[in-house]
Amino acid sequence: MEYLPSWIPVVYLIAAVSFVLGLKGLSGPTTAVLGNRIAAAGMLLAVAATFFDVQYREYGQTGLLLTVGGMLGGGVAGVAGGRLVKMTAMPQMVALFNGAGGGSAALVSILEYTHSIGTVEGPTPGAVLSVVLGLMIGAVSFSGSAIAFGKLQGIVTPRAFRYPLQRPVTGALFVAMLALAGMLIAAAGFGVQALPVETVLVGLTVLALVFGVALVMPIGGADMPVVISLLNAYTGLAVAAAGFVLGNQLLIVAGTLVGASGTILTRLMSKAMNRSLGNVLFGAFGAATTAGAAARTDDGRTVREVSAEDAAILLQYAQEVIVVPGYGMAVAQAQHAVRQLADLLGSKGVNVRYAIHPVAGRMPGHMNVLLAEANVPYEKLFDMEQINDDFKNADVALVIGANDVTNPAARTDTGSPIYGMPILNVDQAKNVIVIKRSMKPGFAGIDNDLYLDPKTGMLFGDAKAAVERVVTELKREA
Ligand code: NDP
Repeated sequence: MEYLPSWIPVVYLIAAVSFVLGLKGLSGPTTAVLGNRIAAAGMLLAVAATFFDVQYREYGQTGLLLTVGGMLGGGVAGVAGGRLVKMTAMPQMVALFNGAGGGSAALVSILEYTHSIGTVEGPTPGAVLSVVLGLMIGAVSFSGSAIAFGKLQGIVTPRAFRYPLQRPVTGALFVAMLALAGMLIAAAGFGVQALPVETVLVGLTVLALVFGVALVMPIGGADMPVVISLLNAYTGLAVAAAGFVLGNQLLIVAGTLVGASGTILTRLMSKAMNRSLGNVLFGAFGAATTAGAAARTDDGRTVREVSAEDAAILLQYAQEVIVVPGYGMAVAQAQHAVRQLADLLGSKGVNVRYAIHPVAGRMPGHMNVLLAEANVPYEKLFDMEQINDDFKNADVALVIGANDVTNPAARTDTGSPIYGMPILNVDQAKNVIVIKRSMKPGFAGIDNDLYLDPKTGMLFGDAKAAVERVVTELKREA
């Protein structure tokens, strides 16, 4: 006989409120750390309450062992992930954790369903609806996140992978999934003996896993931020469905919060790419191939290489400098050197500001996090729409490991796969200095004509080392 003491739902409620307050805190850079701590404290409460919840449900010795094992395993993975995984690999880790959430929701659904068909009264159609939703969305999120992890890690092609009849195949998979889900719900309504429900359940699981792969493989390049936030929303919904299956209010609240915030983020990311969600999922964006930028083009344009000394001279005689950070700054961990450079220029009377593109780096807010870590004042950071009109007045745009978010092809080349994506107007600055290691393309895999612009000087090298060289030159000039 199950008996839950009334304090457990109360603790769940406190944990749920902590998640809401945590999310609120995470919406601003000054409150983000506190928000994160509040949400983490809420999660600790939730885990502790779950431990007792399981004991009161009398699952016995095995239940206790599994609960402790799960707590220890999850705790160790979380601490190790947070401490060992480099900042540049965070997006991959988020994809993995996201997939784990979806996979767990799917497993919970499968177990609860198989448990309920073993009972005398069998499952109700309403309960099966929650099960199939948790299973389908969770499994799609699991396999989709695995592919997203592979793309971000470079194990799977980061480009859009397309094949003949892709849309009809994806559509057929979706219809087949709905049909099998409908069969399970109908079986619950008409009696489970009417159908080989276990076989249907296995079929539905396999179809959902394949559908997740089919959904994410054709998306690639610059569209990845949208798909990552979408998968995040899926996991939230799957967890909420699992909450209904288990009758656990905390899972329902937490899953709904993740689902809602993931959906809002998906909308923001789609807006940042100037694309509708349907277009991202079924359009041809990101299908680019590149020949690899050459130092000289057919029309005779060449790349102008500059030295750290040239860059230092240009910067110190400037009045307005706009720094454009990108993924390369994260890879090189150049944010502290960049802050030092900006301070030095500031002491010489140069106004230095930072232009932040919403999809710069490999996760939402990536650049803000790095620059905050280097104590760059928040008032120096400007979103794309706030600063884009100021580039034409900037003496120097200093691009540090950014590529796709500066590519003028998005504005001018209707044939480009990133055509229509809003970019930072770096090419409108009076002078441009680009720091990167080579002429290789960025994540979207397309060449960048900015590097062939006569007013662009390429300072080749690792971003941190290159910025430090410029700092040394500036100090020498002083
Ligand atoms: P990009 O990926 O376009 O370009 C980064 C550039 O950094 C590369 O061209 C690379 O050139 C250079 N680089 C790499 N390492 C170093 C280093 N150590 N020192 C100096 N330079 C380095 O980055 P952006 O930030 O401009 O754009 C982000 C891209 O990632 C967009 O396409 C976006 O859609 C996508 N994306 C964004 C996500 C998000 O949520 N923000 C998630 C997933 C994808 P080189 O090798 O020559 O040095």
